[in-house]
Amino acid sequence: MATPSSPTIRHVAEGFDKLLPFLLTAAGLLHPSPSTWYACLAVAFVAIAGPLLAGAGVATWFAERSTRRIQGPRTKPAAILDAALESARACWVAACMAAWPLAQWRLGQPTGMILDLDAAGLSVGMVVLQTILGVFVVDAWLYWKHRLLHTRALFVFHKKHHAFRDPTPFAGFAVGPVESLLTFWPILLLCIPAATHWAPLYFALVVGFICLNFYLHCGVALRALEAVVPKTGLNTSAFHNIHHSHAVVNFGEAMTLWDRLCKTRLEDQAKSAEV
Ligand SMILES: [Zn+2]
Ligand SMILES: [Zn+2]
Repeated sequence: MATPSSPTIRHVAEGFDKLLPFLLTAAGLLHPSPSTWYACLAVAFVAIAGPLLAGAGVATWFAERSTRRIQGPRTKPAAILDAALESARACWVAACMAAWPLAQWRLGQPTGMILDLDAAGLSVGMVVLQTILGVFVVDAWLYWKHRLLHTRALFVFHKKHHAFRDPTPFAGFAVGPVESLLTFWPILLLCIPAATHWAPLYFALVVGFICLNFYLHCGVALRALEAVVPKTGLNTSAFHNIHHSHAVVNFGEAMTLWDRLCKTRLEDQAKSAEV
């Protein structure tokens, strides 16, 4: 019988990974108004991929000129085009998620995205507290999803991200379709009117996460940021770059909390090897 790591199952998994964007796109036919859904998909893709790829381009331009590269001077050109295409496909998966709440809003139906807190009967304090808890829950999901993707059975869905051993900001979202779905599915929560998200805070966090991801993958450690950011519990370029060069440590994607709790940092592994 085939094991999860057998070539047959691996080929099926790779085939499913390639097919997934088409399945998610075809799912729009199930919407009560497919034309609205597909229009929203196009808008969402342009709104997500445009700024993301442009931002990655600017960050890469600066990072590739830095003399503070963590892995030293490149011995061969960075795989920028591969990473950009992979990121564009991940953006398509994210847009397939965003099209659902966007179409709901376009058709005048309530969603979980609110602009006016008073009208929703919520206070700023309550929303901020709710958001902080949400950030911790999402960070836990990102960490454990990443740990699971490093198991023998599931690494097939994550290996694309590790093709970029010495990454550029374009690699920040260069993940396969299954991993993209596992990362971006929380966008669907916006379809639930009771799951309130305050638009200014939500979009600020999304932009912050994208900028953090550019820094994590820029291949450069900026002294000022590396001195301050770790104190906030957030991930840094120096920390995440080790994940790309060593693969089995430093799994945190937004924060380093779970790596500390589970002793999966490089320094924890080094200490346990000494014992
Ligand atoms: Zn990475
Ligand atoms: Zn990984």
